[in-house]
Parts: sequence; structure tokens; C-alpha cells
Amino acid sequence: MTEPLAPHYNPALIEADLYRWWTGRRLFTVEPDGRTTPPVPYVIVMPPPNVTAVLHMGHGLNNTIQDVLIRFERMRGRRALWIPGTDHAGIATQNVVERLLAQEGKTRFDLGREAFVERVWQYVADTGSTILKQLEALGASCDWSRTYFTLDRRMSRAVREAFVRLYEKGLIYRGHYIINWCPRCLTALSNEEAEKQEVEGKLWYFRYPLADGSGHVTVATTRPETMLGDTAVAVHPEDPRYRGLVGREIRLPLADRLIPIVADPAVDPSFGTGAVKVTPAHDPTDFEIGRRHGLASVDVMTPEARMSLAAPERFRGLDRFDARREVVAALDALGLVERVEPHRHAVGHCYRCETVVEPRLSEQWFVRMEPLARPALAAYREGRLRFVPERRGEDYAQWMENIRDWCISRQLWWGHRIPVWYCTRPGCGRTAASRTDLETCPACGGPVRQDEDVLDTWFSSWLVPFSSLGWPRRTRDLAAFYPGDTLVTAPEILFFWVARMVMAGCEFMGEIPFSTVYLHGTVRDTQHRKMSKSLGNGIDPLDVVRLYGADALRYTIVAGAAVGTDLILDPDDVETSFAPGRNFANKLWNAGRFILSNLDGVPRPLAGAPGAVKRSELTLADRWIIARCDATVAEVTEALERYRLNEAAAAAYRFLWSDLADWYIEQIKPRLYGEQPGGDVARAVAAQTFDVALRLLHPVMPFITEALWKRYPGRPADASISISPWPRPDPRARDPEALRRFGLVQELVGAIRQIRAEYGVAPGRTVRAAVSNLGPEAGPAFEAERGTILRLAKVSELTVGETGERAGGHAVLSDGTAVFVPLGDAIDLERECSRLGSEVDRLSRMIRSQEQKLADEQFTAKAPAAVVERERRKLETWREQAGVLAQKRELLGCG
Ligand SMILES: [Zn+2]
Ligand SMILES: [Zn+2]
Repeated sequence: MTEPLAPHYNPALIEADLYRWWTGRRLFTVEPDGRTTPPVPYVIVMPPPNVTAVLHMGHGLNNTIQDVLIRFERMRGRRALWIPGTDHAGIATQNVVERLLAQEGKTRFDLGREAFVERVWQYVADTGSTILKQLEALGASCDWSRTYFTLDRRMSRAVREAFVRLYEKGLIYRGHYIINWCPRCLTALSNEEAEKQEVEGKLWYFRYPLADGSGHVTVATTRPETMLGDTAVAVHPEDPRYRGLVGREIRLPLADRLIPIVADPAVDPSFGTGAVKVTPAHDPTDFEIGRRHGLASVDVMTPEARMSLAAPERFRGLDRFDARREVVAALDALGLVERVEPHRHAVGHCYRCETVVEPRLSEQWFVRMEPLARPALAAYREGRLRFVPERRGEDYAQWMENIRDWCISRQLWWGHRIPVWYCTRPGCGRTAASRTDLETCPACGGPVRQDEDVLDTWFSSWLVPFSSLGWPRRTRDLAAFYPGDTLVTAPEILFFWVARMVMAGCEFMGEIPFSTVYLHGTVRDTQHRKMSKSLGNGIDPLDVVRLYGADALRYTIVAGAAVGTDLILDPDDVETSFAPGRNFANKLWNAGRFILSNLDGVPRPLAGAPGAVKRSELTLADRWIIARCDATVAEVTEALERYRLNEAAAAAYRFLWSDLADWYIEQIKPRLYGEQPGGDVARAVAAQTFDVALRLLHPVMPFITEALWKRYPGRPADASISISPWPRPDPRARDPEALRRFGLVQELVGAIRQIRAEYGVAPGRTVRAAVSNLGPEAGPAFEAERGTILRLAKVSELTVGETGERAGGHAVLSDGTAVFVPLGDAIDLERECSRLGSEVDRLSRMIRSQEQKLADEQFTAKAPAAVVERERRKLETWREQAGVLAQKRELLGCG
């Protein structure tokens, strides 16, 4: 890369080439090495995107944060390993392929299990690595040699091992329970997969007649169609309203069955009438009540949520929502509907297809979670597992404390098939879980059949912190890289994935898989809506990369995403949304081009080598930029260590843009051009501090920093900034005196510039300036940087001390130093006086009319207090302005 730098920053010219160069040099590949002494590993496991996914801004945010952390630790000398992978995403992927089949007019049943699964594999082979390729465009420095897929052979071995171990410990069981069922996907879902959404529903009050005709009991329900499957009415044992009724019978309307009235403590006496219908086949609480009282379960729905043969004939085949209307109408016709109330309540929806989930009684596989949760909760309580932001830890603890058993079987074909075989020989009936496929029954040698269901996708992804390293085999990778360090994810999968990984780590490895969970925000539009395909308010990160470069995208993301906040972007104005990153990349490029093109060979070292710059050779400005650079190193390092990525970006930005580009480079120009002595020192200082700035910015903006860093004269061809040492604060660079003194120089230049602007001094025109009432450091500072002040503030003559003029524009610096800029010869005094005069007149008129308005009681009494207050404030502001202008006229000596 020796061709000259392009005059304008053009990311397309550098990014793809640099990425290829990095991976060609295997800079992101980490070997287990067997060493436990430094370098210490630093490991992040990427939340595996769905294999069917295409990159969206949420991935952009998630992966940029991970890459910043990985690159930071890699430069700090750790063996930084970022493990990428994709998730086979059971339901999601199966849905995609089923939709494709539907276009051919086929269902998965037309193909049969084997052919269908083959078809999905084909689909995954064709499109499956898309998202990983897309991550390369962002600059993600993953170790691609370790890419995993949650359905590959290694993962299958791990899944079987985990299943069999839990099964043998009695932590996996099969049973009839109420689970969440998606009638569209035709599968069970875990509690977490049934997303609760608030809906405006109704609460119906039905009269259930007593069997002996002596009256009725009123029950309330949100799902009238389920009444066809009622097998009891329940009341609280201590509810005085129903004391005499317990043990008597109801004649269930429409179904025309006799059902008992039972007393159960699970009934909430304050809900509805305090009497509830009990439908064990369609409600989890009712299911428990049914078990306690030995009630029958009548399943009145088919898997598709149509009324089944168990329902009275007139309702059979009806969709559940049509049946709801029909049941209400039929009860109404019988005069049994007492009243209907609007009722807002939470209803579960399938997280893949949004269909309303139906609680359904079925036989499923479950993991007993309480024993797994105990050590995972302890890790948090004992401070071994921490969350950023901290408050998220309590969400985790609460979920752990109230954990429910995990339904892990899915009625799908795409996934890890449950490794359980049933003996089909009559009289044996053995059930066996096995690490290897069984051909015959281990008990009787008879024929077996494998369970038809597959495992929940998360049953493979909860193992990835160790399965991706070769578990259950005891590999060198596993010894070297488990446990990892940081887990970076969106809060949505805290329970699905993060909490379960901690449990799996404790159970199978005896150690939590990471010590810090960093939960970042969500990408939202300017109306604070989550970006999503269905809302059409997304921004394609690859479009942004094409337009402005990956670095501009990354910088904007990092700068905009503070801990605990969301990232707001405007899909209707991509240009403005990414302006912070794009402008900064341009500034960086221009600063780099300027410094590199003025280096004139290898710069002198700043310290520690023959020919190094001596301290006595440094000017105040040199000392100042070195000290600012050092302070920035400390600031950026600390911010990154504390996961405050936005603060790290802001500190590096300030240093590069303001300190280095706007001040220091401007200051040294005469030295670089040979107009003043000390050019070699200026080059050495600029080269060194810019090198540090590039390294501090590398984790956030990897491409542009590499492109510039590589161009330093004398840099070996194979050197990469990505493995160059992270800068360290240097006690010798600390220089509070230089910071204070150059700070005063900056203040003075700023004050004079402001006065010039205020009085309309033409840009080309020089002014005189005088400073008096000097603080103890101002004098030496202004003398040391007199040339800088004259040049940058366009001053022809600077008088330091008590002899200067005290007229014209005026300002006071933070140390009390007074600044005067006589303006007599710099502006057209007469014109400025008359301009100020007419401005004062205009303000006076406005003030008078405003005073009248506020004196008018009609107005002050009638107008709202806030309006009156606003008008009063206006008046005050105008009076202040008039005062400032009058003072200006006085200082200018206007008549
Ligand atoms: Zn569904
Ligand atoms: Zn058998």
C-alpha cells in the first residue's frame, strides 16, 4: 500500500481490501496455545443470528459493540477470540421453507419428513452464510475458522450429551401438561416464546343453572368457547358467598353435562364473581385444579384450534373465534348471559407468526428448571455474574426465582430430533434416551421407534459457550477459552438465551460461561418505534456502508448508544442520521493526509531512543498536546473498561477533532513550513499524538485507522494497527501547567474571535488586542504562544500588561484576565454606532409595547398563567439585550 492517499476519503477504495488483508494474515484467528500465563484470553460468543436472517440495524448495533470490545482487548495484548455462528432457528426456518412450498401448492406433509428436512438443508446451504458475509462488511473481526451452526454435527453431539445427562439425572421428563400451542405453526412453544400482548377483550358473565333447579351460579370468562370443555365450577374455600354450594352440581348449558362445584384455594375470590369455570384441558390453572379434584379433561379443540368432536355437534369444526360468537349467541338465546364487560388483558402470541396462542393439554418433554436455576442465581447474588446496566440483574434474578419448567419438545421437523426411543414390543414399553441412535430396545432387543418431535432451538443455543469449543470432548480449545468473558446482547433474549446459558454452564461445566452480560438498547426510529420489516421503518446497514463506509456507520452507532439507552435513527433521513460518523471520518482522513504529507521521512522519536526530542525543545503547545493526548488515553481506556463506549468515542473525537486538528495542526503550520524553527519537533509530536489517536479510534473505526496508520514512513509492510499495542497513560506526559496555560491561550483566541464576530470585523482585517489584570499564569502563557495568538486570532499587535488600551470589544477570561479589542480602525465606527443605535431604538419600542401589554389587566387576568409568564420573560430578555447594546455603544465611544 504505497500509492498516495486519495485526496478525498473514499471508504469503498479501502475497506474490502483491508478486510481481505486482515483475514489473509489470520489476524483474527486465535490458537489455544496451551498457555495459561499471559497473554490471557478474552472471549465473546456471538449471539447466533438466525440462519435465514439478513443483516438489519439491530445486528449492526449488536455486532459493532462486540467488535469494539474484541479489538480493544486484542490491542491490549489478550488472545481475543470472537466466536461466530448461526442458529438453525427451528420454527422460523421451517416457516420460511413452508412458505416457499406453499408457492408450489405443496405442504411439508406432501414431501414427507425426510424430503422436507432435505429441502430445508438445501435452502440453508444456498442462503445460510449471507448474514456472516454481511458482517464482514461491517469489519467484524471474528475468528471465522470457528464458525458454528447450531445443527451441525459437533452441536448434535453436544445436544445429545446434554439431553441424556439431564434425562439420567431425572431433570428431563415427559408428561401431560398445559402448554402454549400455536395453532398455525402446529407446535408447542415455551412460555418465553408465547409473547404477552395487551389486548382489548371482553369479560362475559354466564349463569350456570344448579342441577336441582334451585338457582344458578354466575361465572366470568374471557374465552367463552372453552365452556364447552368445563368439568367443574370452583370457588375459594373461605368465600362465604358460596359456602352452601360446594359439593352440589351444575347442569352445564349447551353441553348438557352434570359438573360438580368444588372448593379450591387457587381461586381468586376478587376476580369476577368469585366463582370460576374449570376447563382442565384449556387452562394451566384449571389443569392444576382438575388434578387436585380428580376432574376429567375434555379437550374441545383440534390442533388447528377448531372445535373438536368432544364439543356439541352444532359447534364442531368451527374456528375458535367463530365458536366464541356462536356460544355467546346460544347462551344469550337461553337467557344465560348476565352481562358483558370490556376487559383489557394480556394474551400470548406466537413469537414467530403472531397467532394467538392456545393453552393446550398435550404430552410434551420438559426440563425441571429449579435445580438448574439455583447455582445460576447464586452466581449473580455472589457477584460473580454482573450485568451492564446493573438494574437488569434484578430482572434476571426474578426470573430465576420464579422459574417454571421448560417445555423443550416442538412438533416440527427442522431441528434436533429428541434422542428418545420407545420399545414397541407389547409388554416391554421401555423408554430410552441415548447418545447414539438405537436400532433395538436395550431391555428386550425388540423393535424401537424414535420420538417424532424435535427440540426447542434454544436447547442447542444454550450450550454454545462450550459446545462451540468442542464439548463434550475435552479439547484444548475448551481448556483455553472456557469460561469466556463478555456476552453482548439485546434484552429481548435475556431469558430465552442468556439465563439458560448460565444454567447450562453451571450444570455441564461447573462454571458460569461469562462474567459480564452487556445488554444494549434497541434501534428505534424518531417516533421511538422499534425498527422492523413489518413497519417498513428499517435502515439497511449495508446501504449505509455503501454510501458512507463501515467506519461512519460504526462511529454513529457507538456514539449514539449510551448504556441503558436506545439508538435513535431516522429512516427518512439516512444522510443526517449518519452525518456524525461520516463527518468525523472525513475529518480524520484530512488530518491524517495533512500530517502524513508533511512528515518528511521518519519522524524523530519522542523519547527513549537516540536522537529523541528533548523536553527543553518542546514549546508550550507541544507540551499541551502531549498532555492532552495522555489524558485522552486514560479517558478512553477507562470508558471502554466500563462499557461506556459512547464516552470513549466522544473523548477520542474531542481529541482528534478539536485538540489535534483544529488547534495543534493550526499551531504548528509555520514550523512545518520552515517559517519558524522547530519543524522537526513539531513533526515528531504530531506524528506521535496522531498515531495514538488512530490507535484509540481503531476499535470503533477499524478501516480508516488502519489505512492511515499503515502509511507512516518506516512502518513494516506487514504491521497492522489491529495488533499494535493499546496506548498506555504515561506519568511523564502529565503536565497540568501546560494544560492550564495553553487553555488560557485558547480562551484568549476564542474571546478575540468572538469579539470580531460580534462587531462584524471583516475576516481579512487584523485587530489590535490588549490584555490586563493578568492572572499568574496568563503572562507567561501569552508570551510563550504570542505567535499563535497573533496568527489564529488575526491580531496585529498584542499588548500584555497594564499599559494597553481599555476600549472597544471586551471580555474576561476564566482566570480574571481582561481582554480589550480596540475597534476604531478595524470597523467603520460611524456605521457600527448607527447600526447599534437603530437596534437600541427598535428594542426600546418593543419593550414599551410589551410593558403596556403586561400592564393591561384585561390581558393578565384572562390569559393563562403560562402565557403571561412567557410574555414577562420576553420583556426581560429584551431589556437585557438593550443593556448589552447600550454598553457596546459606550465602549465604542459612540456619541
Ligand atoms: Zn406460530
Ligand atoms: Zn423392549
